[in-house]
Order: sequence, then structure tokens, then C-alpha cells
Amino acid sequence: VKWTEGRGWHDAQLQPYAPLSLDPANMTLHYAQSIFEGLKAYRQPDGSVAVFRPDANARRFQRSARRLAMPELPVETFIEACDLLVRQDKEWVPSEGEASLYLRPFMIASEVGLGVKPANEYTFMVIASPAGSYFSGGVQPVSVWLSEEYVRAAPGGTGEAKCAGNYAASLVAQAEAARHGCDQVVWLDALERRYIEEMGGMNLYFVEGGGADATIVTPELTGTLLPGITRDSLLTLARDLGYRTQERRISTDEWREGNADGSISEVFACGTAAVITPVGEAKSARGGWTVGDGTAGEITMRLREALLAVQTGQAEDVHGWMHELGA
Ligand code: PMP
Repeated sequence: VKWTEGRGWHDAQLQPYAPLSLDPANMTLHYAQSIFEGLKAYRQPDGSVAVFRPDANARRFQRSARRLAMPELPVETFIEACDLLVRQDKEWVPSEGEASLYLRPFMIASEVGLGVKPANEYTFMVIASPAGSYFSGGVQPVSVWLSEEYVRAAPGGTGEAKCAGNYAASLVAQAEAARHGCDQVVWLDALERRYIEEMGGMNLYFVEGGGADATIVTPELTGTLLPGITRDSLLTLARDLGYRTQERRISTDEWREGNADGSISEVFACGTAAVITPVGEAKSARGGWTVGDGTAGEITMRLREALLAVQTGQAEDVHGWMHELGA
């Protein structure tokens, strides 16, 4: 779908996957007006296909567009475009377990010019790729590096938007995490480098206490972290399962101390790609610690199964999260 100043959205079309041809002075290449989304279509027990919360992704896409001075795509157009592609690619939606068809909607500027200003033309596209189970040999806890040197987002910046530049800026920290033997980077707040924000591509949750009395805590949305759709879904699902939930600031010291005295029993990350991933080990320039006993926690796995059950149609969709496409 294209957007042109004065004309709005026009020329929707379904095309075979193929390379794009871009002018060397295409404004996206220079000024990075580029936003995207990630969501999944799951095979349902009756053979039909359903997309998980595309309306929530569509609204986040609109917020990203506003922050990057780009036009807002109507929610219905976003969902229709995803539907059209999923229908076309239906045989590519895997039928086994948690496997899915990953959808990648994105928008770039399509105007040609060297002046720094919002473009007058944009293109919205969706591509898809089948995604197998994230963990082939059972759920594996990840190790994380607390990044005190690099920050992902500063107040007033683009941290809340899902824009390409945020990911470009994160790669050097991800490489540093890998140098320290860690799978993922954990971002801290820009001002004090004390408060936990999120992971490279996932939001974080902390389990305080245990059993039915546990409280599930996630960093509050401060404007500098991505409001994950999985994060949001888990706040609801955890309450459905009887846990207390809290959105508040949580510092690295609180995590370290809570881990040592056992008051923080489990930590996990969540996002569209891996659904829920246990965190098994944390490291920083000032040392590290094993999270709980280093294995996947009981509440982590309970939440993971509850969310996957909704996505794969094994549990009733009481919140209306599944967007059905029919068989
Ligand atoms: N934070 C970042 C930086 C991400 O890229 C993602 C993945 N979109 C998330 C969090 C998790 O968001 P969601 O649950 O919507 O996939």
C-alpha cells in the first residue's frame, strides 16, 4: 500500500516476494524513517488459522508512525494486509505445536531527496516467514549481560517506537554481551544506569515469592521501552491465573539482592518470537549471579503454557485475542 501527500493511502496490491528497487537517494536509506511490527499466525486445532492480537500491533504501528513523523496506517488496513498475506500463504502456517507463520509489516519512506525532512511518500508492506519452535531441545534458559556502557533509549527519544534505528544502535551492545559469554543484552535506564528496562527484543518479568502467592513484576512503561504485546497479554493472563501483578521500576541492585535472599525466585523474558524465555544467569561489569537455580521456573513455565494454549487454540480465548481467518 502506498501513501502520498495530499492523496493518502492508495494502490494496495498482493505481489510475489521479490527484491525492491530503491533510488540511491531514497530518504529511508539516509534518514531512517523505517518502522516495523512482528506478529504471528497460528494453526488452530480445526485446521483454520488465527493471528494473535493484530489490532494491538496495528495500534503500536500507528504510535511508531507518529513518533517518526510518518502517516498513520488505519488499523483495518493493517489487519486486512496481514489477512491477505496469511490467506495466500496458508499452507506455510505450520501445524505442529508452537510453530507459526511470522508476519513482518513495515513502512519506509519512498520519496527521493537529500533534504532532512519528513518524506512526502511512503510504502507499507508485509512479508512472512514460517517460524519453527523457538527451542528445539526443550526450553533453554538464556544468560543476559546488563549493559552499563551503552543505552538503548533516552527520555524524549524513540525508545517506545518500533523503529529500525533502535535496533541499529543496539547491535554493538549485543556484540558486547556475546563477548562476555551472554546470549542477550539487558538495557538499563539512560539517566542512572540502574533501572531495568528490557532485553534486546523482549520485555522482562520478575517473580517475587512463590506458589499461588507470587507477585509478577515487570518494569513500568516509562516511554523508553517498547510496550510489548506479549508483556501486555501476560499482565492479564497472570491475573487470570490468580497472581498479583505490578508494573514498577526495578533496579539491578534489587534484582541482585532479591536473587541472593530468594525473594525474587524466577526471571523471564517475553516477546512474539520466543513467547517466554527463562533467564538463567545475569552478568555485569560488577559481577554476576545465577538466577534462582539457573533452570526454568515453575511459574515461568505455567505462564508460557497458558499463553501458548490460547495462541494454538488449546484454551478458550476469553479475551478475544485470536483473529480468526477461517479454514
Ligand atoms: N522489546 C523490544 C526491543 C522488541 O524488539 C520486542 C519485540 N517486538 C519486544 C520488546 C517484545 O514485544 P512483543 O511482545 O510485542 O513482541
